[in-house]
Amino acid sequence: MERCPFCRIEIDEEATACWGCGATKGYIESNGRVYGKGQTVIFGVLLPIAGMIFLIVFCDSIGIIGLSFIQAILLGAGVLLAIPFCISVHHLVNGAVWYR
Ligand SMILES: [Zn+2]
Repeated sequence: MERCPFCRIEIDEEATACWGCGATKGYIESNGRVYGKGQTVIFGVLLPIAGMIFLIVFCDSIGIIGLSFIQAILLGAGVLLAIPFCISVHHLVNGAVWYR
């Protein structure tokens, strides 16, 4: 048995929601929504990797040399994709936590 960190009610270790206060267990919380392992892997890991592969292929196809402005934009987009990726991997490694 595990205790809800918010209302201290005993809950099953496998439970993903607290029946006492409605807290939700998950890996990422965004705009009041809690994401489970599957969703965190898809949206936080696989999608950013797909985006980064697309950027690399796109950079390669347009021959990036001499296009410093576009290169800078693509680099920025790559960094933006890396942020959710790093956060998601960090949360997946640390395990699920309770959100309310
Ligand atoms: Zn609770």
